[in-house]
Amino acid sequence: MRGRKGNAMSFLARGVLCIGVLVLSISSANAFCFKGVSRTVKIGPGSGASNVTGEFQTAVALRAKEVVLTFDDGPMPGPTDRILKVLDENCVKATFFVVGRMALAEPALTRRIRADGHTIAVHGHTHLNLLAMDHPAAVREIRAGYGAIQVALHGKQAAAFFRFPFLADNHGLQRYLVNQGISVFGGGKDLIDSDDWMDISSQDVAQRVMARLRSRGRGIILMHDIQPKTASALPHLLAALDKGGYKIVHMIPKAGVPDDLAINSYPRLPAPQADEADDAKIATLSAREKERAFSVENFIENVK
Ligand SMILES: [Zn+2]
Repeated sequence: MRGRKGNAMSFLARGVLCIGVLVLSISSANAFCFKGVSRTVKIGPGSGASNVTGEFQTAVALRAKEVVLTFDDGPMPGPTDRILKVLDENCVKATFFVVGRMALAEPALTRRIRADGHTIAVHGHTHLNLLAMDHPAAVREIRAGYGAIQVALHGKQAAAFFRFPFLADNHGLQRYLVNQGISVFGGGKDLIDSDDWMDISSQDVAQRVMARLRSRGRGIILMHDIQPKTASALPHLLAALDKGGYKIVHMIPKAGVPDDLAINSYPRLPAPQADEADDAKIATLSAREKERAFSVENFIENVK
């Protein structure tokens, strides 16, 4: 039987424990996390206003000094791993506009991006310019991108977010995407280009982003996670954003894409609950796609 003294002791012990946990959580937040911890915004095709390139493009209702981090063209072993580490250390979430073929080449890395809490969006299947093909072929390319990522994610769908390779879009393709419930992220007034694909240093990348933000006050920062330079620039950029009082917003979709959107010509689509062993099933495919994916990278290099 516990007396009054026992209860008092237990109350005191609980109090000490709670204060300990509180101190621990405050100190870990201060020690490791970006000060402008993000809010999450749900984005659907209806959230946008018109902008430069098309009436259907999505505009994110960012407040002053709010930014979104986005990374295109990956995943790529090395740079993507380093970027995930920096994001994790700073407790911030980003959106990765993944190329279908790259996802298929690196399925485990693609799943890690998702498991880390980031948004996986789509950036085509082969990174070809969709304006160089007819409408049905361009639609197949979009659907194949979703299909490839679904395979890499063991049956889970990518988010209803799409960014056109080279930001090359047209009214018909935008309309197609919006009819599927997909938000289109384009080259409008929201976009803050980091120029990380140009022949400039990682310090220049961070400085250019900050200069553009100073003049526009908010925006969606476009970077590339196939660039080692971007991984090196990211800690500098986050430090500069933090110092400048910016906050990072994480975008998530309002709703999923239609079940029949994703198409793929790949055999043995793993079930949604599949485990790592399923990668063995797509190992042959993955090896072939890895070769092709790296030629996508070469392709990107060639168009600089
Ligand atoms: Zn791209």
